Amino acid sequence: MSERLTAAVVGGGIGGLAAAAALTRAGIEASVYEQAPEIGEIGAGVLIGPNSVRLLHRLGLAEAIDEVGGWVGEGSTYYRHDGTKVAPVMTTDSSGWAAMYGMHRADLVDVLRRAVPGHRVRPGHRAVSFTQDAENARVTFENGTFA
Ligand SMILES: Cc1cc2nc3c(=O)[nH]c(=O)nc-3n(C[C@H](O)[C@H](O)[C@H](O)COP(=O)(O)OP(=O)(O)OC[C@H]3O[C@@H](n4cnc5c(N)ncnc54)[C@H](O)[C@@H]3O)c2cc1C
Repeated sequence: MSERLTAAVVGGGIGGLAAAAALTRAGIEASVYEQAPEIGEIGAGVLIGPNSVRLLHRLGLAEAIDEVGGWVGEGSTYYRHDGTKVAPVMTTDSSGWAAMYGMHRADLVDVLRRAVPGHRVRPGHRAVSFTQDAENARVTFENGTFA
């Protein structure tokens, strides 16, 4: 009898959601367990470089990041809060592909969250222990449930 592989990802930040989105796309039933009562991001913007953009494209999210992000064009510059220049923003990869985006962190998290089936994103789950043997792995959560 073959059992279907499932995955539990602990942490619903950019990293955890991206991992779950990739696993989902690969046909693996992945669930995300986040300790916070809801998925989201505080903070400001995030710059997404070509290496990350390439992976987001592979996850089928090219259109979604286009919608929430702004393309960072040639000649863009990092500034200090007082307006003095720091350095130019690198806007291409080594092959010359221009794919640098700026977006709000909450928007990026939302794009990634939508790439995982809704019922498999579970806030309010703080992982407290982990065990495994040759057959299974188990994460236990503070609320008494496990995966
Ligand atoms: C000031 C600053 C600026 C940055 N700017 C950029 C940028 O412009 N571009 C860029 O690519 N990167 C940038 N980074 C890096 C980027 O923000 C991080 O690499 C990224 O957010 C990390 O995501 P993560 O999901 O791994 O971690 P986190 O965002 O920390 O997410 C971890 C999640 O796990 C949850 N968690 C923790 N413990 C448990 C538990 N026991 N059970 C359940 N859930 C748990 C947390 O609540 C959290 O939601 C920046 C970082 C900083 C600090």
